[in-house]
This record gives sequence, C-alpha cells and structure tokens, in this order.
Amino acid sequence: MQTISSGTDVRPGMLDPSDWDEFRRLAHQMVDDVIQAQREVRTQPVWRPVPDDVQASFDSPLPRAGAGMQAAYEAFHQRVRPYPLGNTHPRFWGWVMGTGTPFGAMAEMAATAMNPNLAGLRNAGVHVEEQVLEWLKEMLGFPREASGLLVSGGSMANTIGLAVAIQARAGFDVAREGLSRAPRPLVLYASSETHYSVVKTVRMLGLGDDALRRLPVDDEFKLDLAALERAIAADRAAGLHPFAVIGNAGTVNTGAFDDLNAIADIADRENLWTHVDGAFGAFAALDPSSRSLAAGMERADSLAFDLHKWMCVPIECGCLLVRDAEAHRRAFTVHAEYLTPMPRGVARDGGRFSNLGPQLSRSFRALKVWLSILAHGADTYAELIRTNLQQARYLTDLIDRDERLELLAPTESNVVCFRYLVPGFDDDALNALNRGIVMEIQEQGIAVPSHTVLNGRFAIRVAITNHRTENGDLDLLLEEVRRLGESCRAAVVMGAG
Ligand SMILES: *Cc1c(COP(=O)(O)O)cnc(C)c1O
Repeated sequence: MQTISSGTDVRPGMLDPSDWDEFRRLAHQMVDDVIQAQREVRTQPVWRPVPDDVQASFDSPLPRAGAGMQAAYEAFHQRVRPYPLGNTHPRFWGWVMGTGTPFGAMAEMAATAMNPNLAGLRNAGVHVEEQVLEWLKEMLGFPREASGLLVSGGSMANTIGLAVAIQARAGFDVAREGLSRAPRPLVLYASSETHYSVVKTVRMLGLGDDALRRLPVDDEFKLDLAALERAIAADRAAGLHPFAVIGNAGTVNTGAFDDLNAIADIADRENLWTHVDGAFGAFAALDPSSRSLAAGMERADSLAFDLHKWMCVPIECGCLLVRDAEAHRRAFTVHAEYLTPMPRGVARDGGRFSNLGPQLSRSFRALKVWLSILAHGADTYAELIRTNLQQARYLTDLIDRDERLELLAPTESNVVCFRYLVPGFDDDALNALNRGIVMEIQEQGIAVPSHTVLNGRFAIRVAITNHRTENGDLDLLLEEVRRLGESCRAAVVMGAG
C-alpha cells in the first residue's frame, strides 16, 4: 500500500521571520538607518571609491545555510551603504540623476510590501497608475485621451514610443510580416545631440544604426531644421520611407531644446511620427518661467520622460505618453488564453497595462509617484524646476565673470558646460587639464560633475536636477575647480613635456 507523506518536513512560511517581534526591531533599525543616511547626507563626501578589501569581500561562496536577517543586514550596513554613487548629495550634478527623497524611499517599501503585479489585473494599484498618468498628462500639457505607461526609464520609454511609431507608420502590416518585408526601408531623423539610448533602440527594433539619420545642430546645439527637410527629401528621392522624427526637450550634453513646434510642423507636412525625448527637460513645462522652452512638446505623437530625474522619484521610473491610444494598444496587444478578460473577478480587465509594452509582470512604481505628488504637490515640483534653472543661470554668470573659466555651450536650461582656462594652453593641454580636474574633484569627494566633449573641447558638465543644492554649493564647486586647476596645471605642463 502506498503511504502518504505525513508532512513533518513541511515548513510553511519558511521565508517569514521566526520571531516577528525580533523582526520588528530589525526592521525599525533599518528604517532609522535610512532616515539617518538621508538626514546627514550633506556632511558626507559626495563619493568615495569602494576600498579594495570591501570589493574583495564580494567574491564569497554561495551560502548554503542562511546567516539570518540580522547578519545579512549587517553585511549591507558595513559593505554597501557607506559607498553610494552619491546622487543623494546636494553636490552631485553628474550625468542626469535625481536625488530621490526620504518619502520616496518609504513609498518604495510600501509598494514592494504589497508586492502587486501591475500587469493590469484588478487591484488598487491599477487605479494609482491611471491617476498618476492623468496627472502627468496635465502637468505636461498632453491631451487626456492619450495613453500612457510607467516604465523603467527614458531609454525604455524611447524604445516603446518608437516601436509604436513603426507599427503606426510603416505603411504595411509590420506586426505580422516584420521589417524584413518592408517595401521601402524605414528611416527616421534626430539631431546629433540625441541621447544614445535612441541608437540602442533602433538596434533593438531591428532598424539598424544607419536608419537613424543623425543630423547636424546649430550653434545652440538644436536640430538644424533645414538639414532635416533636405534629408527627408533626399531619402524620399532615394526610395526610402521616412516615418519618424525625434525632437529633444533637453539634450543630455548641453540641455538644449529643439524647436519642437517647427519639428511638429515639418512632421505634419511630411506625415512623420513625432517622438519627443524629454527625459528630464519635459518638466520645464511645469513652471511658467520655463514653459516656453518646451513649446510644441504637447504636439508630439509620443513623449518619453523620466520621473527619476527632475521629479526626484527613486530610480527606476520613466513614462511614455502616446497621443493615439489605439495605436499604442494595437502595437502590444497579443492574444493569450490565460490573459483574456473575464466578465468578473481579478481578470476582468485582462492585462490592461501589459498590453501597452513588452513587460508582463510590472512593479508598483506608480505608488512612489502618486505618494510624492500627493505629499508635495505639483507646485513644489514647479518650484524645484525653477530653482534649479535659476541655479544653472547663477553658475553661468559666475563662470562668465571669471576669466579663468570659459563656458563651452550656451546655458539654455539646467545644464552648464565649462572649462578651466590657462593662458597659452592649447585645446589638447586644456582637455588634459580639465579631465584631471573632473577626476580629482570626484575622488576628493567634493562634488560630482560629469564630463562631455563639445566641438573637440573637454567640458566639465553640471546638470542640476537636485532639490538639495544651494547656491553656496555652486560657489564651492568653482572655488575647487580653480584650486584644482592651479594644482593640476603643473602636471599637465610636465606631462605635455
Ligand atoms: C537620461 C536620459 C535618457 C535615458 O533615460 P534613462 O532613464 O536613463 O533610461 C534619454 N534621453 C535623455 C535626454 C536623457 O537625459
């Protein structure tokens, strides 16, 4: 006779705490530590490298038996927390990164504790995401009928936006037949300043790098509109199929805004899909003082932007809005028996959100956005945008007034590119010197600007999407650039021989 297992080996809830009171103490300690780290962030170095012995400690064998939560947390506390990237600090202005917020961190915890799957199955999280999308449309002047989706970030928003564009404008059933059956090869247009994520996108979508016509920019790093019209005409004459144009609301190098109205006019005439990459700059539309920068953005067919940059929502969170909701839905709706809508119950709406992008399981990232906007209000974010723009202007004025410093691009928004000058140094020597300054200022934990190269000149690049920055932090930056410029110049002279 067959025996049925008595089940004595079964440990239900084996991943739960064995002692909930002990767990509560540990969890409270974790929360206290989170708060402490945020509260004292200004007193810490902006960045410090992970010491060699700490790095080496990550090369350890797979634990077969657990050490317990307390010991696991200790490992984080000792070896991870002390070595952050630094983007919570008031003097972090590298690349484009938000600081996150204390409340946002708590919101993440609340969201992950609920652990819902935002595929679109019925739960309150769906309503939170719907509400957030409505608010974002209103904040950015996008029509209410538009469709939207929260995503990991601007790169994914660009990818999904252009995937919809291909299906909407390919002119044949590309969803079924694929791009290889295109009667005429598809091409799209963007300025040379367009973010590199768009290049990854055209690769992923199977268009290939060559399909992306990277057009020249003017002195202000904005798309050259005449070049755009010429390129479209030439491509049509060559038998290609121009289908989309990308406008930038805030380029990553210099914070330039393309003339989005002019681009939309050309796109209307030429029957192109307009995609706007507004990763950080879209939020210029939030404050009346800067709204005109993004004029025309609201005419885009698709708009990509980040919440984890200027909105300071914890990483990751971006968003895509698509004017033609039906085109968006069509591009990603695939029939699956296990996700067909039911008349009632959990599956009534099927995969409401999973039909708008490549992901099925989706995190509850909407909660941190919803709670942040509820708590702080849209006006506070407008004030943050305005403050950072004023700070970029303040820094620009200081640079303008100092003959040892040179601006390398016009400051149109929140990005300032400049370099330290030494009379008699040529561009090569200045490039070497300014590279040294950037690395020193980072390694000394003073500030984190990043770098770029503009017209062959190495630039110290400051992108202010930071609600903690004070004007004094920018004064300090320039003092330190001058000090390091003095101390690095000898090395460059010797190095240059
Ligand atoms: C940051 C950025 C992106 C990419 O966004 P991620 O959130 O990093 O994926 C795209 N375009 C611009 C202009 C950006 O600044």
